[in-house]
Amino acid sequence: MELWQQMIRDSVHTVDHLVEKFEMDRGEAERLNEFFQVRINPYYLSLIRSKNDPIWLQCVPNIKELHDFDASDDPLMEDAMSPVPNITHRYPDRALFLTTSQCGLYCRFCTRKRKVGNSEKISMKGLEAAFKYLEKHTEIRDVIMSGGDPLMLTDMMLEKILKRLRLIPHIEIIRIGTKMPCVLPQRITPKLVDMLKKYHPIYINTHFNHPWEITEESSKACQMLADAGCPVGNQMVLMKGVNDNPFVVKELMQKLLKIRVRPYYIYMADETKGANHFRTSISKGLEIIEHLRGWTSGLAVPHFVIDAPGGGGKIPILPNYVLHLDDEKIVLRNYQHKVYTYKNVEEENPVLPAVKKKQNQPGRAIVRELTAPEAVTTPEPRKNPPVLAEA
Ligand SMILES: *Cc1c(COP(=O)(O)O)cnc(C)c1O
Ligand code: SF4
Repeated sequence: MELWQQMIRDSVHTVDHLVEKFEMDRGEAERLNEFFQVRINPYYLSLIRSKNDPIWLQCVPNIKELHDFDASDDPLMEDAMSPVPNITHRYPDRALFLTTSQCGLYCRFCTRKRKVGNSEKISMKGLEAAFKYLEKHTEIRDVIMSGGDPLMLTDMMLEKILKRLRLIPHIEIIRIGTKMPCVLPQRITPKLVDMLKKYHPIYINTHFNHPWEITEESSKACQMLADAGCPVGNQMVLMKGVNDNPFVVKELMQKLLKIRVRPYYIYMADETKGANHFRTSISKGLEIIEHLRGWTSGLAVPHFVIDAPGGGGKIPILPNYVLHLDDEKIVLRNYQHKVYTYKNVEEENPVLPAVKKKQNQPGRAIVRELTAPEAVTTPEPRKNPPVLAEA
């Protein structure tokens, strides 16, 4: 057994553990454990500094989870957009592929609480149908392995999946969504990264939410992935009591860059049943982005998005930098609230068809409407490229 597997075994996971470690009421612990299972591995447990600190809140069950009666357990409509059990296909050219129900830690804010940790709901039996779907759908050029956490699979099983995906010619890139670098960095072993690099291009998306999660161990894990040629991105979820503070987020983003992880998304917390107590106001998110853009490296500024309830996908939200927009000019303000004007020019050959000018709508003069996604194609490469004059 590898060290990380032993650490999973040594996790806090029973009602007795909850009562002993966290002085929880037994009845409450039972109901919570039944609602969404508990797993706090010894590494992540060691990061807790005090009761209700940002690490504690992410992993220790809270009675508020059970008071969340009205919320949906699938606000993003992932199941409705699932053509076969382990696939969610929401966007034209990429698909989410659930490969396991297991995680190195069960996060109390998880958006997939309805399935994660339950091997009947995300089952290995579904893998074959998923491969068939991916093979048949030649428009899919990007597969995002998720779960659960794909790095809960053994190296051998993971390699089987990667090998199979690499046999599908239209799949250009593979992404692995994993919290392991953050919650159980011991999972990132030399053997794992040596295997991964045979299947490039592989992108890793990881999930750090607080600067205390950046430790010697997690730094090493991210650097090993980067050294193996995997670009590593981070998705952070904005959560009350965890990271709803511009200074905390800026510190996290800057520390991620130091360990070669590029901030990719900041999400508003989803309206998931049992996780609504983590939600913050939208203005809090905007305040955080305002505090990043311009004030620190652009590389440290992720896209701030809401994953739209109802399955609309990730929609970016920006502080309002555009004060005015018409056919002649755009008036902008910068990060310091100084105002600048940029002159517009007329577009002679718009790439996108069907330009519709919306009358009498300030700031909407140059809205262009896409008739259909198919209408936009890359131009064919030129048959006879011009011969360059010799120097
Ligand atoms: C997030 C997500 C993706 C990937 O979106 P990107 O913006 O390309 O990172 C794909 N499919 C589903 C269902 C998703 O939720
Ligand atoms: S690792 Fe991801 S899938 Fe697993 S519990 Fe945490 S957020 Fe949910």
